[in-house]
Amino acid sequence: MSSSKPAVYDLVSDTATIPTDDMFDVMKSATRGDDVYTADHSIIKLETYMANLLGHEAALFCVSGCMTNQLGLRALLTQPPHSVLCDSRGHVFVYECGGIAYHSQASVSPVTPKNGLHLTVADVESNINNDNLCGALTKVISLENTLNGTIMPYDEMVKIHDFARSKDLKLHLDGARLWSASHATGIPMDQYGRLFDTVSVCLSKGAGAPIGSILAGSKDIIRRARHLRKLMGGGWRQAGMLAAAAMHCIETVVPTMPETHRLAAHLANSLVKLGATLPIPCHTNMVFVDLAPIGLTVDELADRLEVKNIFIARSQGTATRIVLHYQIPTEAIDEIIKTTTELVNEKTKAGFVKKSSAAAIQQQKIDEQPAAYKPSYPSAPAPASVATPSVLTTEPTSATAAA
Ligand SMILES: *Cc1c(COP(=O)(O)O)cnc(C)c1O
Repeated sequence: MSSSKPAVYDLVSDTATIPTDDMFDVMKSATRGDDVYTADHSIIKLETYMANLLGHEAALFCVSGCMTNQLGLRALLTQPPHSVLCDSRGHVFVYECGGIAYHSQASVSPVTPKNGLHLTVADVESNINNDNLCGALTKVISLENTLNGTIMPYDEMVKIHDFARSKDLKLHLDGARLWSASHATGIPMDQYGRLFDTVSVCLSKGAGAPIGSILAGSKDIIRRARHLRKLMGGGWRQAGMLAAAAMHCIETVVPTMPETHRLAAHLANSLVKLGATLPIPCHTNMVFVDLAPIGLTVDELADRLEVKNIFIARSQGTATRIVLHYQIPTEAIDEIIKTTTELVNEKTKAGFVKKSSAAAIQQQKIDEQPAAYKPSYPSAPAPASVATPSVLTTEPTSATAAA
C-alpha cells in the first residue's frame, strides 16, 4: 500500500485485504499460458503445491470459494433425487445463492448442531436420509472448518468420516479458512484434507490474495470439476499472474496467521473484560461480540471508530462480527479497545448500570441459541430452498453476499 495514504483498517471481513506492490511485482514475472489448455506454468505450480499440501492427487485453481465449493459438490453428486447434509449455518447452504439447487439439483438437509457449536456424528446420524424414498437420499456430507471462525474438533471430523464411509457417502470440506484451523490446532492441512473427497481452500480470505480459491481431490474428480468449471463459464485463459500472487501470499501471509489469531484473542478478552459477551467463541481470527451488557449499539461504536479510519461491520442491534487479517496491526486493535472503553465510561457517567458479568452470563444462558445466532450483517439473500412465497420478491434485492 502506498505510504502516503492514511492507514485505513477494514475489519468487516478478511476478504478486505488490499493487494500490495509486492504482489504486483510478482505478477509481472508470472507465466502467460492458457489455463483452459492447462498450459500455464504458474497455475500448474500452484495447483501442484496445493494438491500436495492437502494430501490429494490434483487441484484446480478457480475464481472464488463459491465456485470451488459448488464444483466440489457438483463433481461428487451424480443425479437427482439426491441431497447434501451440512450445518444449517454453512456457507454452501446460506451464502451461495442457492447454488446447490441450481447447479446440482440437490436438496439440502441443514442441521443445527445440538451443542450449538459444531456438528457431531450424532447430529449427522440422526439427520441423514438413508432409505426413505419419499425424500432425497443423502449422498454428500459437507463440513466447514473453520465455521464463523470456530474450529471443528478433528476427532469429530474423523468420526463423521468413518460414519460416512460406512454408509458409502461422499465428503466435501469447505475449508475456506482451513489455514486458520491448521495453524490454531497444529494439525497439518493434509491430515484434514485426507478425510475428504473434495476440499476447497480460499486464497483471498485471510491468505490475502486478490482473487482465487483451490479445489483439491482425486485426478478423476478434478478432471470432472475442470470440465464443469468450463461449463459454468469459469475457464480462464492467461490467469497465471493470479496464481503467482496467490503463491506469494501462501509464502508470506499465511505464516503470519498465528499473530492474527493472537490479536483476535486479545481483542475478544479485552471486550469481555469490559463486560461484553461473545455469542460465538473466538478460536481464530473472528470476534463475534454482543455489546448489549455494556449498553452500546454497534452503530455507536462503528461511528466512533470510523472517524479513526477503522471500519467494522454495522448492524441494527448490539451484536456484530469483527474480523482480523494480516493488514490489521496491534495499533488498530488497541484503538478499538480504547474507544470501547471510552464509550463504556461515558455510558456509566450518564447513568447506565452495567449488568454484572454474572448477570450478563445468566442472561446469555437464558437467551442462548448460539446455533441460531445470525449475524445481521451483511444482508444475504434467503437461500432458495427455504424461501417461501410470502418472502419472495419479484425484484432482485440489492443484498450483498456474506464474505
Ligand atoms: C467466503 C467463503 C466462501 C466463498 O468465498 P468467495 O470467494 O467469496 O466465493 C466459502 N466458504 C466460506 C466458509 C467462506 O467464508
